[in-house]
Amino acid sequence: MARRTKVYEGKAKVLYEGPEPGTLVQYFKDDATANNAEKHDVIDGKGVLNNRLSEFFMTGLNAIGVPTHFIRRINMREQLIRAVEIIPLEVVVRNVAAGSLSTRLGLEEGAALPRPIVEFYYKDDKLGDPLVCEEHIIAFGWAAQQDLDDMVALALRVNDFLSGVMLGVGIRLVDFKIEIGRVWEGDFQRLIIADEISPDSCRLWDMKTGQKLDKDVFRRDLGNLADAYTEVAKRLGVMPRNAGRVTKPTLIN
Ligand code: UDP
Repeated sequence: MARRTKVYEGKAKVLYEGPEPGTLVQYFKDDATANNAEKHDVIDGKGVLNNRLSEFFMTGLNAIGVPTHFIRRINMREQLIRAVEIIPLEVVVRNVAAGSLSTRLGLEEGAALPRPIVEFYYKDDKLGDPLVCEEHIIAFGWAAQQDLDDMVALALRVNDFLSGVMLGVGIRLVDFKIEIGRVWEGDFQRLIIADEISPDSCRLWDMKTGQKLDKDVFRRDLGNLADAYTEVAKRLGVMPRNAGRVTKPTLIN
């Protein structure tokens, strides 16, 4: 059997060369890490859930005209994506104070913010992904001013879409992180959403109980991570239809 060429391996995903130029296969692992990989575990089924959930969110974004790298899901753990030039910034959007914002500014977790806040972190594990401002981004050439404007606009559209979808199933979108990449179409470049959108990169709180349904369950040892992600997938109706009822070898839809 032909061996695939691995292009990149990160903490939670592997990228392989795709079947056509300009495509990649994105494989979702079960690994969970936190605090810059200081804490690591393997959570059975996490990769399958994140593959499905990222497909769900990216398909929805594509449908409303927010361009993403997602082309189609291949199987339980893999999806076909467009290859992009990743901009070395994590774009975080916050609706409610939590995590590093609460720590940095002394805000109580759960405090409403006056408006969505967009932040940029420079992607560098050795430096612990430091918060950076627009001056740094332009001066060091990580992105141009036009890119920055486009990134903020994209991030806010993703925020509106995700907030609305989650509200519909009784979940508050507290904050999330996205990554953005460049694609070239002739001489023109365009920015599109890349990487993944899943409970690994969002904070999701149940609207009634405040229960956390995201990676903080792992970061803060609050219970079973796969159960929390399964709850999100169930509410969104994206669980494989017959996954829980398999008694004999069966093709999972
Ligand atoms: N986030 C992420 N990857 C990172 C850092 C943050 O996906 O490397 C997400 C995180 O899940 C949360 C949001 O970005 O939804 C804001 O994270 P924060 O800055 O509060 O950092 P944390 O408290 O997670 O260290």
